[in-house]
Amino acid sequence: MQVKPEEITKIIKEQIQGYESGGKQKSVGYVTTVADGIVSIYGLEDAMVGELLEFPNDIYGMVLNLDPGSVGCALMGDFKRVREGDEVKSTGQVMSVPVGPELLGRVVNPLGQPIDGKGPIATTKTRPVEKIAAGIIERKHVHEPMQTGIKAIDAMVPVGRGQRELIIGDRQTGKTAVAVDTIINQKDTGVISVYVAIGQKMSTVANVVRTLEEHDALKNTIIVASSGADPAPLTYLAPFAGITMAEEFMYENNGACLIVYDDLSKHAVAYREMSLLLKRPPGREAYPGDVFYLHSRLLERAVKLSDDLGAGSITALPIIETQASDVSAYIPTNVISITDGQIYLNIDLFNSGQRPAIDVGLSVSRVGGDAQIKAYKKVAGTLRLDLAQYRELAAFAQFGSDLDEATQKQLARGERTLEILKQGQYVPLHVGYQTLSVYAVTSGLLDEIPVTEICRFEEEYHEYVGRKYSSLAKDIEAKKEMTSDLKTIVDKSLSEFKQEFLAKLN
Ligand code: ATP
Ligand code: MG
Repeated sequence: MQVKPEEITKIIKEQIQGYESGGKQKSVGYVTTVADGIVSIYGLEDAMVGELLEFPNDIYGMVLNLDPGSVGCALMGDFKRVREGDEVKSTGQVMSVPVGPELLGRVVNPLGQPIDGKGPIATTKTRPVEKIAAGIIERKHVHEPMQTGIKAIDAMVPVGRGQRELIIGDRQTGKTAVAVDTIINQKDTGVISVYVAIGQKMSTVANVVRTLEEHDALKNTIIVASSGADPAPLTYLAPFAGITMAEEFMYENNGACLIVYDDLSKHAVAYREMSLLLKRPPGREAYPGDVFYLHSRLLERAVKLSDDLGAGSITALPIIETQASDVSAYIPTNVISITDGQIYLNIDLFNSGQRPAIDVGLSVSRVGGDAQIKAYKKVAGTLRLDLAQYRELAAFAQFGSDLDEATQKQLARGERTLEILKQGQYVPLHVGYQTLSVYAVTSGLLDEIPVTEICRFEEEYHEYVGRKYSSLAKDIEAKKEMTSDLKTIVDKSLSEFKQEFLAKLN
């Protein structure tokens, strides 16, 4: 049988098509300029944004800019070894980091390489660092508590699983302390924590690691650390690497995760440095216009997943440092508007000894109310109001005029409330005990106790409850509701102990 000419062309065409799909050609370019970890490359017309590029000496970089005729790329690694004229190959892959349970208890750099001297990490899986956040259909509303163990927060600005709550304040106001206490409080809850240190001193990071280890919380935690000495691209990558590692637990094990970004102000500064080197136009305060997009696409990945997707969650606690208490600067306002609320730490409160220095007036949790257990919500309901009234009256009382009895009572209540909300570091409190403390003050039972004795009262009362009513705190948590039976027991324990305590005082 003769083959028709049309058929011959068809066969050849098929072979050519087969040839094209069989072998993929890698494109190659050349470094034209290199400065502080940012290189510009000639060639590589088919590079994609976010693609990994291969340089000589096993150095990799990530494509950030696609300009006509050149490609802008950030180097991850020792950028001093990259020179003008070096050959660059595209890899067709996007930037990824190792993920998996092997990372728990370890300190890694933003590329996922161990830096704690405990040997290599035998991970088998990687995930791309950039991923589009879950959409609305894939989400569920925030409804379970993410207890921080800090009374002032759990009572008045409760955080729920899947929420994004900003911790904001001047330098040295206890921002890191709040985050670390929250991680410590998760040690028996099964929540996986990721602490991302961004552009910090390595000594500070070492302190956090040691603290977590001492409190037995490191085993459930991954620390991603980029130091101030690292090049800007690594610092830029750190929070994305952290959330990618958390996502693995959320998507694969339906786990609940907590991620702390300490802090995003330094992240914005690193991004600004990179953008200026990439010759992107500077905007307000010289930050590039897309710094908002940078932080929103990062924080949007914190989510409470729907039941269909396994109901895992990632709760994010980003930290922002303000200058001279100015919350209206560019980066603070950006992140305030992205998150579901903020915990504002006031430097004056901190210096006057009110620690944690949470400014109740400026702190808010927009979605966490549903996540607070009902019993606690009920007893803490009037706390905010009490404190607001106290602040107003305290300003008046300074004039020293004669005060009527009602005012004096309110002042006394306010002072005691503030005292009860004081809490040391590394002693997160179980929600049952928190409820007891807050109930004691809001019910007015502490009004006769001298302010200076409140802390002692609280401590000894908890001890007393632990001894005589050992199941009470657990019952409050389990029942979730403040039933009248429960209330009777709480009242009984309080009045019994109060008598004992007052007798001791006199
Ligand atoms: P930086 O801006 O340097 O990161 P920061 O805002 O993270 O500081 P921390 O380092 O957490 O602040 O705390 C500052 C100091 O205050 C530390 O010495 C810490 O021990 C102390 N501190 C924080 N919280 C408390 C607290 N609740 N009780 C007593 N001391 C505290
Ligand atoms: Mg800090």
